Amino acid sequence: MGDLRNCRRCGKLFAYMGNPLCRQCIDQDEELFIKVREYIEKNLKCTTIEVASALDVPVEKILQFLREGKLELGKENTNMLLDCERCGRSISTGRYCSECATAMEQEFRKGSRNFQERRDREQSRMYTAYRRKKY
Ligand SMILES: [Zn+2]
Ligand SMILES: [Zn+2]
Repeated sequence: MGDLRNCRRCGKLFAYMGNPLCRQCIDQDEELFIKVREYIEKNLKCTTIEVASALDVPVEKILQFLREGKLELGKENTNMLLDCERCGRSISTGRYCSECATAMEQEFRKGSRNFQERRDREQSRMYTAYRRKKY
């Protein structure tokens, strides 16, 4: 079993399994998600705000589903597009357009390689210092 933590939403103690929300809050999200998905499938031309007011769901929640990639828009859901958080282009799911996602992955790889090299250098310096002290 995982450690006990407080649910980020309702504050209840629960066994942490990698998700900051307790089982009940996850189920609640799941129910919302199914409602939103069904509504979008039936109302292809709806906007995010229409979905939110029709289902009484916060707009943020719908955006969150979309950003998490949980909710995917069909080609027909043209009124519910998201903006790429990096370049502002319209996207149908996730947080970034595919171009930005690729570019960021490359930047990230480069960044983590530099970090690795720096850490290796620091470790060998520490090791040398340690040896000097010892002998
Ligand atoms: Zn909860
Ligand atoms: Zn982009």
